[in-house]
Amino acid sequence: MTRPRIEEITTELLDVPIKRPHQFSTTKVTSKSFVLVRVTLTKGTEGIGEGTTPGIWWNGESVETMKLVIDQYMAPLLMDGDPSQLEALMQRVERNIRGNSFAKAAVEMALYDALGKTYEVPVHQLLGGQYQTWIPVRWALASGTKEGDVEEAGDLVSSGRYASFKTKSGKESPVDDARRNVDIAAGIPSSSPIGIDPNGSWDRMTTRRWMDAFLEAGIDFLEQPLPPHDIEGMASLTAMKKVPVMADESLQSIYDAMRIVQAGAADIFSLKIHKAGGLKNTVKMAGIAEAAGVSCFGGTSLESSIGTAAALHAYGSIPNLDYGSELFGPDWLADDLVKAPLVIQGGSIQVPDKPGLGVEPDEANVARYRRKET
Ligand code: MN
Repeated sequence: MTRPRIEEITTELLDVPIKRPHQFSTTKVTSKSFVLVRVTLTKGTEGIGEGTTPGIWWNGESVETMKLVIDQYMAPLLMDGDPSQLEALMQRVERNIRGNSFAKAAVEMALYDALGKTYEVPVHQLLGGQYQTWIPVRWALASGTKEGDVEEAGDLVSSGRYASFKTKSGKESPVDDARRNVDIAAGIPSSSPIGIDPNGSWDRMTTRRWMDAFLEAGIDFLEQPLPPHDIEGMASLTAMKKVPVMADESLQSIYDAMRIVQAGAADIFSLKIHKAGGLKNTVKMAGIAEAAGVSCFGGTSLESSIGTAAALHAYGSIPNLDYGSELFGPDWLADDLVKAPLVIQGGSIQVPDKPGLGVEPDEANVARYRRKET
């Protein structure tokens, strides 16, 4: 077959409401912003991708920077390229544009969608084949109060919607935070695993002191307790062999992955398709973890069903996703950007199986949530 070429790449900003305010370590959010990427191939096939971030505090990118980087710098590099040569195209982008992994991932996602549609296979087939079809999802407890979190967890377990959880921390002092997490863990149904994510806001001594209490409370992972740069500190916590330590902000590239396994600085990798710069890099990171005996967790930047579908194709092809995922984005948003939003059932989510990403944009909603130019 004559291979199609990349004819056009467009972007637009969207703001989608969320169901309830979400408390991160530094900020509370009430809506979620996205950059929607569309890649059109010469035969008319359109691929869609999505860029989104927890906030500019997370790694320095925002939807506005993504849009600018894609429009101004990435699109011209990719124009007339052969999407079948995806690795070559992304290496070209890598050599020409430093950083900006979220923007790169959004474009790579759209290219994968277009490629899958061209070859009529789901993206997980392009990533080397599927390992599992359903992936457990943890719900993030981030109501802002201890009582609210305990109540929410109880409701979700009794209604059968979620069985495992994660808390967000970092708003209070490390000691108050640690105490609050132990209380939440004590308050939720004992069969439910719960992990803690202070987003790098704790210090070495406090974390070390609380490890036994966390273990006793049944907390099953401690995600990025220390600042991203403190690999030595993460290694010392991992060496305690108490609660498994997860690297998230410390792990932003395949090079970080290598450094972390060499330093023994994590028991678990939190994978995220955007921080990795795309689906393929995510699978590469998981391979480094696999070789080092490190487990993986399917992290989220709180994507809509578009980005969540992309993450599912990558995570569904990884054998060492021992801790499941936190792909609850579609359930957290008050509305979605696709015609048939992904559904979380009994605490798990299904990997899409249609060609490409397997989700179709809902143009009425895209128009509804398109950011008005000011
Ligand atoms: Mn995290």
